[in-house]
Amino acid sequence: MTFACSGCGACCRAAADAGLVPTRDGHCVHLTDDQQCAIYATRPEICDVAATHARQVGQGLQMTQATYFTLSTHACHALMDRYDIEPRFRLDPSRYTHADTMRRGGQYGP
Ligand code: SF4
Ligand code: SF4
Repeated sequence: MTFACSGCGACCRAAADAGLVPTRDGHCVHLTDDQQCAIYATRPEICDVAATHARQVGQGLQMTQATYFTLSTHACHALMDRYDIEPRFRLDPSRYTHADTMRRGGQYGP
């Protein structure tokens, strides 16, 4: 499963503001003029939801990827609100719930 990023750029701006990525003129040096990541395949872990989840599971987090992705969707929306991103970039938080329910054999719950 991959995280359905809409490419809104809010997390790139947040990462730059927090000093988590190298910046130039206030923006991540890897952010292109058309708001794409120039190093997407090799981007830092902080920019990769699936990689962040995998590391935390390795450290003992007990949370499915679907649940982690759902929570990340809400985090994305909070960042979109912070940076006043256009509504067309909003995500569907329910898209992972279905996958998680199916993985559990139709039983929703922990
Ligand atoms: S805030 Fe979320 S939807 Fe927007 S670019 Fe980052 S990961 Fe993608
Ligand atoms: S490395 Fe790529 S994904 Fe990460 S903040 Fe920079 S442009 Fe965004």
